[in-house]
Amino acid sequence: HAATEMKEGAPAIAIRGLRKEFGSVTAVDGVDLDIANGEFFSMLGPSGSGKTTVLRMVAGFESPTAGTIQLGGTDVTKDPPFSRDVNTVFQDYALFPHMSVTQNVEYGLRVKRVPRAERRKRAQEALESVQLSQYGARRPGQLSGGQRQRVALARALVNRPRVLLLDEPLGALDLKLRREMQVELKQLQRDLGITFLFVTHDQEEALTMSDRIAVFNNGRIEQVATPRDLYELPATPFVAGFVGTSNVLDGEAATALLGEPGIFSVRPEKIQLHLDDPHLSDSATPHAVTAAGVVREVVYLGSATQSIVDLDLGGSLIVLRQNQQSPSEGDVAGRGARVHLSWLREHTVSVAPQP
Ligand code: ATP
Repeated sequence: HAATEMKEGAPAIAIRGLRKEFGSVTAVDGVDLDIANGEFFSMLGPSGSGKTTVLRMVAGFESPTAGTIQLGGTDVTKDPPFSRDVNTVFQDYALFPHMSVTQNVEYGLRVKRVPRAERRKRAQEALESVQLSQYGARRPGQLSGGQRQRVALARALVNRPRVLLLDEPLGALDLKLRREMQVELKQLQRDLGITFLFVTHDQEEALTMSDRIAVFNNGRIEQVATPRDLYELPATPFVAGFVGTSNVLDGEAATALLGEPGIFSVRPEKIQLHLDDPHLSDSATPHAVTAAGVVREVVYLGSATQSIVDLDLGGSLIVLRQNQQSPSEGDVAGRGARVHLSWLREHTVSVAPQP
């Protein structure tokens, strides 16, 4: 059914120089991306950073001010949505309330005049893939939020698209269901081998599900990387701060602690806390960074305890996290305690280009 022909070795989606202006607002400011076949690729960023606009241009709902979009090696920049081999799942599901689940799932096939028997068969398969085969006769109103979400997925999958575009599809679910659906969705994507382009502003969600993530800020991409690299090797201060919690060291603190100027990031769980020990700096290895300060706040997080330490240096704050199993002395460092901190030099990542 697809108008687009798949070219051998071409990426599922190739975006070049993509821009979108709405009047005086530049929503997308020069985006380049290659997304591989079968990849689970997420666009992550704060509200208004341009993720949805990129997705809508790939779907064909918006036309770019400049730039090109290829699907499977074919330029589709000027093609209307229905002729692109993609399907979109929206946050609000957009189900028809007066139709049964099966009718909702079949709808796209009916529009394409697929014969009834074939329609039924494919709808049933799609409902099975999202574990809803028993629910075909219900109306959307008789389903839970998570089940409705799966109907929306089945409705997209029934077209057997090569690429599925998902715009915050789990946004309406409560946290527990959302975490469950993340695992299910990832499994489904892997089993079906479909390319997913997924929009979210939830960094934990992106880290959990994605093969790779593009971090958006102000209509531009700050970094494209695997979840691990994004977390361990953030390329910019924005990425360090947006993906997980980060301590950014710059100015006086960077020079004093690390012996060089620049902007650096160190993750809270890499930092060890010691009750004030005057000999700590004597025993420190050349690879360790040490700092002294006073505990300002201790926050119990359930699986971990987070402490905020006021460094003696230039009023910098450091956040650190100790998990409950660690028999660290830090467990007894309450508010106002004098402490020493240490971490390995290699855990300090430069987040700005070297001068
Ligand atoms: P969210 O997570 O809130 O959906 P986003 O990262 O997806 O945010 P976009 O929806 O792509 O961001 O919006 C990017 C910018 O473009 C915002 O400043 C937004 O207000 C603007 N914008 C988006 N669509 C339109 C439109 N149809 N008309 C005018 N401005 C728009």
